[in-house]
Amino acid sequence: MKCAPIVLVSLILALPSVNAAINIVFDYGTTSAADIATYGSTFSAAETFWESQLTGYRDTGLNAPTQILINVDLGAIDGVGGTLGSAGPTYGNFGGSFVEATEGDMTFDTADLDTMVTADVFEAVIRHEIGHVLGFGTLWGLNGVYTNGTGQYTGTAALAAFQIEFDQPDATYIPVELDGGDGTANGHWNMGVYLGASEALDSRDDPGDTVVYTSVNNGFSLDDELMTGFLTGDFLSNTTLQSFYDIGYEVALDIMGSPVPEPATCALLMAIGSGFVVLRRKRRIL
Ligand SMILES: [Zn+2]
Repeated sequence: MKCAPIVLVSLILALPSVNAAINIVFDYGTTSAADIATYGSTFSAAETFWESQLTGYRDTGLNAPTQILINVDLGAIDGVGGTLGSAGPTYGNFGGSFVEATEGDMTFDTADLDTMVTADVFEAVIRHEIGHVLGFGTLWGLNGVYTNGTGQYTGTAALAAFQIEFDQPDATYIPVELDGGDGTANGHWNMGVYLGASEALDSRDDPGDTVVYTSVNNGFSLDDELMTGFLTGDFLSNTTLQSFYDIGYEVALDIMGSPVPEPATCALLMAIGSGFVVLRRKRRIL
């Protein structure tokens, strides 16, 4: 009797490409070696923060940037107090379905550096400014989620997260800051929003644009979020995270605020004679 050999057949499966995390690269330019030694680890921590939150691009392949180069400048802005930093993208990728930043600038006021470090908020300020380079409040118009002057952000993912996170099921937009002049207006969540009984109205609340909401997110209000125009808090809301999805990034959490589930394992079971081959590959969750 003739025995048939057991043949192992390998198949190459067309798997979805694995999105790498975004890659932020700093160019410290004329920053002194001493300042880089002093502050470099804080910049690196802020970089790691965003690279763990934004897990890739919704555009793929050649249509997605390979890095975001950020030119860092420690310089004079307006003396002690006032503006702590400013930032924005300077070059973008227009090749895909979204406009993504590929290069940008960040400036931090040297007059405020010691104060920011002492108050332990410098990393939060860097996170905030990187957020602008990545597109928060700066690439909204080009990505169709906001029109300057309206005060109403309408990107669908962030709005859905806002409805859940801040218990605003009937909201049709997220309020955007219209106060503060150039550089603040139209680029942040609205600081004047009153989010409920647990938060007293204070000098930051502008009666002209007050919207009375009935609850807060675990005690946090949108006023104290990382991406408002005035530094009073630094928590990253899922609303902000999903706003990055709206402008072309893959993000670490879903609209409910849960970790994005691992895609279904791609498995193939194939029996050949008495042998079988299982091809299994999991996508890496970053
Ligand atoms: Zn800002």
